[in-house]
Amino acid sequence: MFLKRLEVVGFKSFADRIGIDFVPGVTAVVGPNGSGKSNVTDAIRWVLGEQSAKSLRGAKMEDVIFAGSDSRKALNFAEVTLILDNADQRLPLDYAEISVTRRVFRSGDSEYLLNKQSCRLKDINDLFMDSGLGKEAFSIISQGRVDEILNSRPEDRRSIFEEAAGVLKYKLRKKKAEHKLFETDDNLHRVLDILHELDDRMEPLQMQSSAASDYLRMSEELKDIELGVIAFDLRRIENQLIELNKQVTEQSANESTLDALIDETESQLIQSRQLLSEQDTIIDGAQEQLVEASAELERWDGRKQLLAEKRQNTDQQIEKLQQNIRDFDEEKSELENEYAQKLQSAKNRQQELLQKRTELKQLDHLLKQSSAEIESEMEEWKTTYIERLNEEATVKNELKHLDQQVVQQMEQTEKMKGENSLISEELHVVDSNRSNVANSLAVISKQLQ
Ligand code: ATP
Repeated sequence: MFLKRLEVVGFKSFADRIGIDFVPGVTAVVGPNGSGKSNVTDAIRWVLGEQSAKSLRGAKMEDVIFAGSDSRKALNFAEVTLILDNADQRLPLDYAEISVTRRVFRSGDSEYLLNKQSCRLKDINDLFMDSGLGKEAFSIISQGRVDEILNSRPEDRRSIFEEAAGVLKYKLRKKKAEHKLFETDDNLHRVLDILHELDDRMEPLQMQSSAASDYLRMSEELKDIELGVIAFDLRRIENQLIELNKQVTEQSANESTLDALIDETESQLIQSRQLLSEQDTIIDGAQEQLVEASAELERWDGRKQLLAEKRQNTDQQIEKLQQNIRDFDEEKSELENEYAQKLQSAKNRQQELLQKRTELKQLDHLLKQSSAEIESEMEEWKTTYIERLNEEATVKNELKHLDQQVVQQMEQTEKMKGENSLISEELHVVDSNRSNVANSLAVISKQLQ
């Protein structure tokens, strides 16, 4: 086994990545004071797990990260990798080359890698124990330590030789075993003390033990009884369960029957609701018809009343006209009587006239006697005759006028009679309409009921 290569970046004065190859033979790092030679061994010790910042000549672990210079900015991490040739298998790992890496960040995070695989510090310590390469191994002797070793006590020096001889590992194991033995001895003493104490408590404990065993026995009996009770309850519950299952099956059958019944009832209900809404629509229509019919009835009643009044008026007029006709007839007969009387008187006058003419003739004779006398008498008779003729013409005109009036009255009577029959017909129609409306009203009332 030998050190092959060291790679450093960001560690102390090594801002740039550097690699030092330790070729077979002697490798020396030469430089003036303060140029960073000791930083190389610090890097090796650090990568091998050095935990003390002081021994790395810093105040804290963060001080190993490059802190910057006049020309360079500080870095945020430091990383060192040590590569060892393990062809002779001195290190107990099945690799010909072993690389160990340690990385630390300013945030405080750090990590160890063994052949680029993340590992614990303990793995690295175990790997290098007794190899002569540990952080405290004599293979790295820093400045001033040679004097320290030479001047140290033989016991302290012995550990260095033991490390070199590879017996440190066994010594440490022995130390651990001795420590364990000491602890076991201590435990034994404590057990003896406890046993001593327990001796004193033996008698009450025996009593407690017998009470406890009584308790356990009774508990067992109780458990048996309880188990019996539980088994009985279980059997009872099982029977109840069977009974309940039966009931459930029956209920399920009933339920399905009820479900079917409910479905049927629901569909009937839906149909009834539909029927009801149809009936409602019909009732609404019937009510509208009823209202219309009532209005129509009222209209017909009004019209009937109007026609009745009209008829009464017409009857009264007919009566009046008939009275007029009667009056006219009376007047006519009176006038006819008067006419007959006047005709008779005219005839009488004519007779008288003839008589007078005769008398005139007689008088004509006399005229001769007194023509002036006779002429005046004749004139008188002529005037009377003309008056009589005028009177006759007036009576004739009056009679004619009365005849015309009678004809007019007759025509008006006929007309009234025609109107009367029309009104009677209309009344008949109104009556039939009224009875129709009353019939439909009765039907609607029946439907509404
Ligand atoms: P000497 O022969 O006196 O022992 P040396 O050559 O061994 O000196 P070191 O002591 O290894 O030198 O290096 C010290 C140098 O490292 C100093 O110049 C110091 O400034 C530098 N140094 C140490 N720690 C850091 C750091 N964290 N960042 C930057 N430079 C650092």
